[in-house]
Amino acid sequence: MKIAVCVKEVPDPGPNRRIDPGTLKMDRSGDRSLNAYDLNAIEEALRLKEAAGDGEVVLVSLGQAKALDSIRKGLAMGADRAVLVSDEAAAGSDLVATSHVLAEALKAESPDVVLFGQQATDGDGAVMWAAVAERLKMPVVSQISELEVSGGTITAKRQTEFGYDRIQAPLPAVLAVADSLNEPRYPSLKGIMGAKKKPQDVKSLSDVGVDASRAGEAGSRTTVVSLSPPQGRGDSRKIEDDGSAAQQILDFLVERKLV
Ligand SMILES: Cc1cc2nc3c(=O)[nH]c(=O)nc-3n(C[C@H](O)[C@H](O)[C@H](O)COP(=O)(O)OP(=O)(O)OC[C@H]3O[C@@H](n4cnc5c(N)ncnc54)[C@H](O)[C@@H]3O)c2cc1C
Repeated sequence: MKIAVCVKEVPDPGPNRRIDPGTLKMDRSGDRSLNAYDLNAIEEALRLKEAAGDGEVVLVSLGQAKALDSIRKGLAMGADRAVLVSDEAAAGSDLVATSHVLAEALKAESPDVVLFGQQATDGDGAVMWAAVAERLKMPVVSQISELEVSGGTITAKRQTEFGYDRIQAPLPAVLAVADSLNEPRYPSLKGIMGAKKKPQDVKSLSDVGVDASRAGEAGSRTTVVSLSPPQGRGDSRKIEDDGSAAQQILDFLVERKLV
């Protein structure tokens, strides 16, 4: 079984994330790492390969060339190789352009299963898998909290707001896994040492058959018109910590009889 896992390098999550007011885009400078939700998808791919007894796990990404530093974590966990589409003409790709590039890169791989994490911690759109599945004309199942693959069919338990759906779909299929599905393994020392030697193909847009007009800003359909901080919620109070923040929070909760 051939399993492709779409993975993305993201800015480290934390309080320092910001939108650049000049470009109205996320400031992607600073420390970066592999999107944490993608680790669940890699883990599941490795388990599917182990259960099948053979097969291949290939990581597929669109990003900057230096994203390979983060993607190697997936190789260290046990994935067999990585394909990174990296091209200056792809900078500024929105969902429409990114999904087109990923779909074309995936077509060249012809996987039986395409796995995604539930969302990316920077964009938080939780929609890329649906867009890629539509382009590949494959069934898609999201929020998977249990997964079985047998005889060319997947059976998945899909977490919903009010309970669970049980869904069957034929392969090939696009599957987005919930972070409750598994506990990602830690890369072993041997895995970390071996990751650099695994095949890591950096491809241009033309290598995957994408015309530059369908990627980057040229291929994007989103225009960010303006940005503003979210509106405060009615009865809220901002506490600046001058050393008494803990006491102020406690007073606030006591006032409302919450503690
Ligand atoms: C106008 C505009 C310009 C942008 N410019 C840039 C830019 O220059 N550089 C940039 O990095 N982002 C850019 N983005 C953000 C980028 O379009 C989104 O990150 C992308 O559409 C994915 O959406 P998401 O992050 O919400 O992913 P989600 O839908 O939350 O992610 C779901 C799954 O898809 C996977 N996935 C998402 N993106 C990729 C990818 N690139 N490769 C492999 N797997 C992926 C995630 O890892 C996750 O497993 C831009 C967005 C807009 C609107």
